[in-house]
Amino acid sequence: IVDIIKASGLRGRGGGGFPTGIKWETCARHSGERFVICNADEGDPGAYMDRSILEGDPHTVLEGMLIAALAIGSQQGFVYVRNEYPLAVKRLVTAIKQAKEHGLLGDNIAGSDFSFDIKISTGAGAFVCGESTALMASLEGNVGRPRAKYVHTVEKGFRNNPSNLNNVETYANVPAIILKGANWYAQMGTQHSKGTKVFSLVGKIKNTGLVEVPMGISLREIVDKIGGGVPKKKRFKAVQTGGPSGGCIPQQFLDLGVDFDQLAKVGSIMGSGGMIVMDQDTCMVDVARYFVDFLKEESCGQCNPCREGLKQMLTILTDICEGNGKDGDIEMLEELGMMMQKFSLCGLGTSAPNPVLTNL
Ligand code: SF4
Repeated sequence: IVDIIKASGLRGRGGGGFPTGIKWETCARHSGERFVICNADEGDPGAYMDRSILEGDPHTVLEGMLIAALAIGSQQGFVYVRNEYPLAVKRLVTAIKQAKEHGLLGDNIAGSDFSFDIKISTGAGAFVCGESTALMASLEGNVGRPRAKYVHTVEKGFRNNPSNLNNVETYANVPAIILKGANWYAQMGTQHSKGTKVFSLVGKIKNTGLVEVPMGISLREIVDKIGGGVPKKKRFKAVQTGGPSGGCIPQQFLDLGVDFDQLAKVGSIMGSGGMIVMDQDTCMVDVARYFVDFLKEESCGQCNPCREGLKQMLTILTDICEGNGKDGDIEMLEELGMMMQKFSLCGLGTSAPNPVLTNL
C-alpha cells in the first residue's frame, strides 16, 4: 500500500504538502501503538472543502483511514472535527455506525485478522488546533498548543506514540488511488504535485463554490473560466490563497500554474484550498489587517514574536487604514514579519506575516 501511495505522488492536502506515502512509511517504521488521525479542523475563513466531503461522502474518508491503518499497522483511529460542523459530525456518526454494521470497522474486519476502530473527537474551533502537535494535545484532553517538533508526530504524537495525521481531503484521495492505481492518479497534475485539488472559490467572482481541478491549472483559468470572472465589469486585483497564513497573488501572476511549488515561489501557499478573489475596490491594507486581526485572536500566545508581533502589526495596519500612517511603518512591518518568521514556534507565527508582506 505504501509503495502505491508513494508512486501516486499524493501530497498532503491540508497545507504542508508533505508526501503522504513517505509519511506513512516513516510512521510504520516506529514501534509502539500506532494511531491514524484525521484532521477535520478546517479553520480558514471561507474554506469548506473538508466539510463538504464529510457531509457528502464520509465513507470515503473512513475508507482512506482504514487503508492507512492497514498500511502502518494501526488499530485505533480518530477524526478530530470542529464542533461548528454539526452536520458533518452527524454524518460521520452515521457512517461509522453503518461501517460497523457491515463489519467494515471494529474487530476482524471482513473476517480478516485486521481490527480497526474510529472515534470522533470534537474540537472547540481553535484555529491553532489544525497544527499537528496542538491537535494531538487537544485530542489528549490538554490545552491545544503546539510544541517544538524536534521529534515528529509520526514518531511521538498522540500519547507519545507514532501517529499518522492527514486531513480529510488527503484520506478521501486514497480509495480511488488503490482502486485505479498509482499511474492513473499520477497522470494528473504537474511533475511534483499530482492529482487534483479542491478549492473553495469565494469573494468577488461570479460563480462561487467548490471546484475540483487538476494541479497545474492556471489561476486565470480558475478565476475567468470556471469562476466566470469578476462581476460588474470591475477589474481583477488579486487572489488570496492559503488561508490567513497564505498570501495575495496579483494580476501579473495569473498565468501561474497552481501547485505546491509555484504558489510558494510567489510568496503564497496552497494551504487547504481557500481562494478569495478581490476586485479593484478591495483595499489591500484592509485585507492584510483583516487576516492579521484573525491571527492575533487565534495565536496561542506561547511565543513572544507571534503574540506581541501580531499586536504591533495590527496597530500599524489600523493606523494606516485610519489615515494615521507614518514614515517607517512599512519598514517596521517588514522587520516584525521577518522576526516572526524567524523565531515563532509553529506555522501560524512563521507564516502569519505572509498576507502583509505579499501586499507590501
Ligand atoms: Fe502559539 Fe503563535 Fe507560537 Fe504558534 S507561533 S505556538 S500560535 S504563539
